[in-house]
Amino acid sequence: MTSVHDPLAPPTTDRFGTPGASGATRVMLLGSGELGKEVAIALQRLGVEVIAVDRYDGAPAHQVAHRAHTIDMTDGDEIRRVVELEQPQVILPEIEAIATAALEEIEAEGLARVAPTARAVRLTMDREGIRRLAAEELGLPTSRYAFASSREELREACEAIGYPCLVKPTMSSSGKGQSSLHGPDDVDRAWEYAQSGARVAGARVIVESFVDFEYEITLLTVRSVDPETGSIRIDFCEPIGHTQERGDYVESWQPQPMTQDAYDSARSVAARITSALGGVGVFGVELFVKGVDVYFSEVSPRPHDTGLVTLGSQVLSEFEMHARAVLGLPVVTTLSSPGASAVVYGGMEAEGVGFTGVAAALAVPEADIRLFGKPSTSEFRRMGVAVATAENIETARERARTAASHVRVVT
Ligand code: AMP
Repeated sequence: MTSVHDPLAPPTTDRFGTPGASGATRVMLLGSGELGKEVAIALQRLGVEVIAVDRYDGAPAHQVAHRAHTIDMTDGDEIRRVVELEQPQVILPEIEAIATAALEEIEAEGLARVAPTARAVRLTMDREGIRRLAAEELGLPTSRYAFASSREELREACEAIGYPCLVKPTMSSSGKGQSSLHGPDDVDRAWEYAQSGARVAGARVIVESFVDFEYEITLLTVRSVDPETGSIRIDFCEPIGHTQERGDYVESWQPQPMTQDAYDSARSVAARITSALGGVGVFGVELFVKGVDVYFSEVSPRPHDTGLVTLGSQVLSEFEMHARAVLGLPVVTTLSSPGASAVVYGGMEAEGVGFTGVAAALAVPEADIRLFGKPSTSEFRRMGVAVATAENIETARERARTAASHVRVVT
């Protein structure tokens, strides 16, 4: 743990109101997916009035909030309208495609506190902003990289970085529009694919050298108010290992074994990037590890999908830690058991699907499942997750995979 004085430390919430009454403690989620749903449940348990916002009706967190709104979150006027209507004390952006300028104005005007900070949300929604901060301002080790805004620039950038390399739209997440390139013949296809997966047309892309890592981790890092000193403290969870397919997580486990040197470097990188972003809350710091070398990849200024494992493996899940930290309350990052998570995909295009095999999944020792309640599905849409614990990560992984494999999405 490190403790630093931060003049922007939020006041500890020491008086909680009653939801629906004047004086209620109100928190608004901008983005209401499965991660937001767990944060909403954690907030509900603290007697917080929860307002969930998403771009479609019936989103997972909509279903467990006091009130729900459906708006276009890339429209700053729409965000301002719901904030003025609901007057939350705290806003939690849960997605990346969001009008960050409006959030910065709302924060500057003192209408609401954005957690962790509006600036952190702006910098991390854009791969260019966060990469330049990490590599050029903080000097953190990263893959080699270059940016391009046209097919011709991409060709030059790939030559400069060398093959194999990866191309990703700067405004995208979860592998969308991302491809690996093995030579110049792949450039056209990569440019077109990046344009299709980007959140905006004419998208800028980042070219990254391919890091031949041994394993990748998410280091959940929590900035919270130290109840003894009133300053911000930084705590780290045990590292989470994960596997990715199509740039999306399929399986995660905690703790990922690491050498002491690699773990020390990982914590140092995580402390530096999260301190530069500021505010309070959980951050998911994504790192590639090769021997004792640790490369910074990305950071989410919010709970991370690979951290779903903490629903089983920690005393407080990442969602409970986030709910506490953003309210200025203390957290603990203690592991309670080795654990693992495995994703349940939709596997088809359909509305209002059902699930079979839930009983079989829950009959797996120490396994639990979450079904997110999404109103529609597609082949690789994440519809649920299985979480399991065991005396070691190998058994936990096997249990989580087995439990997830029992759950079938049916029409
Ligand atoms: P991202 O969308 O940037 O989180 O990337 C998704 C996944 O692609 C990562 O979790 C890695 O497994 C892989 N990946 C991304 N960038 C690189 C890189 N520069 N070198 C090797 N693998 C990468």
